[in-house]
Amino acid sequence: MEIINRRKRMMSVARKLRREENRTIGFVPTMGALHEGHLSLIHEARAMCDVVVVSVFVNPAQFGPGEDFNSYPRDLTRDAALLAEYNVDYVFAPTVEEIYPPGFSTYVTVEGASDQLEGASRPGHFRGVTTVVAILFNVIKPDFAFFGQKDAQQAVLIKRMVRDLAFNTEIVVLPIVREASGLAMSSRNNYLKDEQRRAATVLNRALSKASEAYEEGEHSATRLTELVRATIEKEPLARIDYVSVNDAETLAQLDKIDERPVLVSLAVFIGKTRLIDNVVLGKTKKHDAAGAIA
Ligand code: AMP
Repeated sequence: MEIINRRKRMMSVARKLRREENRTIGFVPTMGALHEGHLSLIHEARAMCDVVVVSVFVNPAQFGPGEDFNSYPRDLTRDAALLAEYNVDYVFAPTVEEIYPPGFSTYVTVEGASDQLEGASRPGHFRGVTTVVAILFNVIKPDFAFFGQKDAQQAVLIKRMVRDLAFNTEIVVLPIVREASGLAMSSRNNYLKDEQRRAATVLNRALSKASEAYEEGEHSATRLTELVRATIEKEPLARIDYVSVNDAETLAQLDKIDERPVLVSLAVFIGKTRLIDNVVLGKTKKHDAAGAIA
């Protein structure tokens, strides 16, 4: 496994793999502090592609003022050891200057859908995400790139960017990996103290309640939202940022749920830690199995 810091080196390695060796490249972008959620993406990339590239880059452009850019967990030594175990071929771990050279002034924005949900709470967040992913795609030119359903809106926006700007990369979205408690794995779970970690299980419990109600015939978005809110409000350590019901593909806000897959998503503060989670309702059986809540 080679760790690459320079974008020029990454570009020439990727070019050689594609042109001279004709090998398919699978790419998994991450911010490090790796956990089993990331590893599930890497596992799938390993199964589908000849070469696996994982980036580890805490992207300043996707953090707002007062967010946790400085305190975000960073441990490249630990991450690299895990990645080697998973037979990753290349780790791309650039410095901020490698990605954003002096005078950097070009951004990629998916208009409209970037401003809702996570984007409404975190202005500019998705501009940072789509810009860095566009840069990474241009450097690596992967055949496939792997993203987690954990960040459902991110996956929708990346797919749209790829379609709109004709990136030659297929986007693969994989289900949320959870702890036994139901808590969605996240690098930010590292911030939680024991008591908070227990409280954080309320996110998945609330979403599971919405799933059950939906299965029993509740198709009003308002009532499902209220059910989720009421469940979370019973947890004294939790403070709701938002709970929302949207079309899973267009992200349009919905009042009533029809046959289309619907995304129930939320963001909740546990102490100072902001956690997100979601569930998709109204999927086919096949998708259900993949995206099921524990
Ligand atoms: P991050 O390092 O948080 O930027 O995440 C990198 C990738 O891992 C993103 O595509 C995330 O959606 C995905 N990811 C993070 N947590 C999970 C999880 N619990 N299950 C599945 N994918 C995840």
